[in-house]
Amino acid sequence: MHDITSNPYAQMPPLFRQRPTYLRINLDAIAHNFDVIRKQANGARVMAILKANAYGHGLIPVALKMAEQKADMFGVAFLEEGVLLRQAGIEAPILVVGGLVGYQTKHFIDYHLDLTASSLYKAQQVSEEAQRMRRTVRIHLKIDTGMNRIGVRADNAVDFAMEVAKLPHLDLVGIFSHFVRAQGPDITLAKQQLEEFHDVIEGCSKQGVEFEDIHMANSSALFNLPDARFNLVRPGISLYGYPPGAHLENKWGLKPALSLQSEIVFFKGIRKGAGVGYMHTWTAPEDGWLATLPMGYGDGYPRHLSNKGEVLIGGKRYPTVGNISMDQMMVFTGKDELEVGQTVTLLGNEEGETITAWELATKSGTIAYEILCGWTPRVPRVYEGTGWKPETT
Ligand SMILES: *Cc1c(COP(=O)(O)O)cnc(C)c1O
Repeated sequence: MHDITSNPYAQMPPLFRQRPTYLRINLDAIAHNFDVIRKQANGARVMAILKANAYGHGLIPVALKMAEQKADMFGVAFLEEGVLLRQAGIEAPILVVGGLVGYQTKHFIDYHLDLTASSLYKAQQVSEEAQRMRRTVRIHLKIDTGMNRIGVRADNAVDFAMEVAKLPHLDLVGIFSHFVRAQGPDITLAKQQLEEFHDVIEGCSKQGVEFEDIHMANSSALFNLPDARFNLVRPGISLYGYPPGAHLENKWGLKPALSLQSEIVFFKGIRKGAGVGYMHTWTAPEDGWLATLPMGYGDGYPRHLSNKGEVLIGGKRYPTVGNISMDQMMVFTGKDELEVGQTVTLLGNEEGETITAWELATKSGTIAYEILCGWTPRVPRVYEGTGWKPETT
């Protein structure tokens, strides 16, 4: 058996977790983003998407904040995420948007989680288990309008819905689909997907199958495709303060909620021509100063940022030099003689200068989503804002 909740680092008393490297999470920023989303949803209800440890921000603290803000519903990817939310006292409906594995069905029902049915076979399994447990189970149909991941294809969707509607012990509450690409500038495909989904809803309605929760809009669609809002929206990345694409300016006033700080633990002069770090992938172009930070790719800082990243010290940008190691990394400060103990911001804002998750993502060949949820359990999370105040988790 493996223990899905164990994070050996989090189990350490806070005193031992006071690394000079930590993620600072501003729950007030998340609450602010939720307000922006609420307005943008224009009356549609909001399902706060909290998968992957709330995009790295911490599942439980974010969930409690969202509950305080009266999020209508919560969305997660896997069973265990839903269970953790229930154990933390979340009472609103929780939809597990990912697929389900047969043997997990009982637990979904035990914890009152809304299920996603991505095939008739799955729906039948759920219906049978619900019957055994003498329960009625809330279910959402997943319609594939182009992702080709999970779900029933749009052309078969009306038949699928009619079949599921006949199954006993199911409360057919929702139907949903997911966009391949909705952040623009080209939204042709998104419009096509939306049209297919519209047709499915209409087809179902003609057959007398109606849904309480019709949902398709992720953050991109919420902000770009008003028609995709239906009566429920599913924002993820925007909740955490980021637009869904690197090229998109943050015109909605979203506030990034997460920042990463460390400090200089070693500071020394370096001679022109001296190599730095594993493989000596960088050599000093001139005499100058070199800072060492007590963190590395073992904490989730992308190794692809070797010789490409920048950090902020005193609001000024300095380059990361040499290969990022698992637990340490180096920064060249040129002629600036700094001090051990000075704060370094690797992600976030310092004296008016900002490094965003999209900047780290673009420079390391990925997307902000991966940067945000990539911080490892070794990095302590410190929470700011009301509602949740542990020293660290
Ligand atoms: C992750 C996810 C979302 C949220 O997407 P964002 O781009 O982060 O807003 C919405 N719906 C489903 C099904 C998802 O998996």
